Amino acid sequence: MNKEAYQKKIASIQSQLNPDTHLLIVSKTRSEDEIKTYYELGHRDFGENRVQELLEKAEHLKNSCPEIRWHMIGHLQTNKVNQLFSVPNLWAIHSVDREELLEKILKAQDKLSGSLNIFLQFNTSKEEEKSGFADYASLKHAAQLIGKKSQIKLHGLMTMGTLRTENFEGEARRCFKELEQLRQKLSKELKLPLENSMGMSQDYKIALEENAHWIRIGTMMFS
Ligand SMILES: *Cc1c(COP(=O)(O)O)cnc(C)c1O
Repeated sequence: MNKEAYQKKIASIQSQLNPDTHLLIVSKTRSEDEIKTYYELGHRDFGENRVQELLEKAEHLKNSCPEIRWHMIGHLQTNKVNQLFSVPNLWAIHSVDREELLEKILKAQDKLSGSLNIFLQFNTSKEEEKSGFADYASLKHAAQLIGKKSQIKLHGLMTMGTLRTENFEGEARRCFKELEQLRQKLSKELKLPLENSMGMSQDYKIALEENAHWIRIGTMMFS
């Protein structure tokens, strides 16, 4: 893809977003040059799903892309948290999918130089291999573990739509509606503004209709 193609991609997506919605470009497996091209077009938010790859890219790009904001979106092992926290310009973790991981993050927070946003991942699809909190009570309990003065800021909720289904669009909509209901309920009970992270290349249009605040798009941005 040439620079013009990148510009067209980003303009096409931006034209579909309202002012409260953000595009997270998922750059896993993509080169640093590809990331830099989007950065130079003014884009700042990039997502990766593996700690090692994220750390390498972030180190290499920290001087040429000083305003970049990195988002961890992949399954995270507790023994990788310290390494993740050494990533320059780490802005958010979207994949906080269990209490054990959250506890580890809270314990390690003094290793952070600033604050860090987290999204609690909820398993709306109920597919077995998907991780995430499974019911409202455990979600709320996790949210309440985060103290008001913590460097860890609860930013919102994250989910993925069902992948293996004959009714892809219907299932995606059901998953996104469920996340939006959970977000509203939790936000009201905790008196805290929260955002939804939902929608990928295949289902982002549905996510936008169901009040996504962050859409996470990889494939479509690079092909
Ligand atoms: C890879 C990935 C995406 C982006 O998926 P595409 O289909 O490439 O747009 C979004 N979210 C998560 C958690 C991912 O792992």
